[in-house]
Amino acid sequence: MSEYDPDNIFAKILRGEIPSTSVYEDDETLAFMDIMPRTDGHLLVIPKTPCRNLLDASPEQLTAVMSTVQKLAKAVVQAFDADGVTVQQFNEAAGGQEVFHLHFHILPRQEGVAMRPPGNMGDFDLIAKHAEKVKAALA
Ligand code: AMP
Repeated sequence: MSEYDPDNIFAKILRGEIPSTSVYEDDETLAFMDIMPRTDGHLLVIPKTPCRNLLDASPEQLTAVMSTVQKLAKAVVQAFDADGVTVQQFNEAAGGQEVFHLHFHILPRQEGVAMRPPGNMGDFDLIAKHAEKVKAALA
C-alpha cells in the first residue's frame, strides 16, 4: 500500500488551503458536505490526523471517526426526515477509493428513491442550504 500523501484534497481542506462546507468538527474529526452529492445531504466524515483508509487507520482514529459518523447519521435522518441512512467507505483504488484520506460517506435515504450516479457536481447554493439543515439538527 502507498504512503499517505499529505497533498491529497482532504488534507488540503484540513489545512484550510481549499474551501469546504463544514457542518461539524471536534478535536479529532471533521464533517463536511460532498461536492458531488449522490443524495440530498450527502456528507463526509474524516479524521483530522493522517491515514489513507481503513487499512492503516489506528484504533483511536476509527473510534473517533465512528462516533462522529453516528452523530452525523442521526443528524441527517432528522434534518431530511429520512427513512434510512447509507454509510459507505472505500479502500484503495481497487476498492473504489478516489481520495486517499480516510472518509466515510453519509447519505440520508428516502424509501424507494435511488442514489444519483457518481461524479456529478452539485449545486453549491443547494449544498449550502442542506448544510444549514444538518447544522440545525445538530444544534
Ligand atoms: P471516494 O474516495 O471514492 O470515496 O470518493 C471521494 C469523494 O469525495 C467523492 O464523493 C467526491 O465527490 C468527494 N469530493 C472530492 N473532492 C471534494 C471536495 N473538495 N469537497 C468535498 N467533497 C469532495
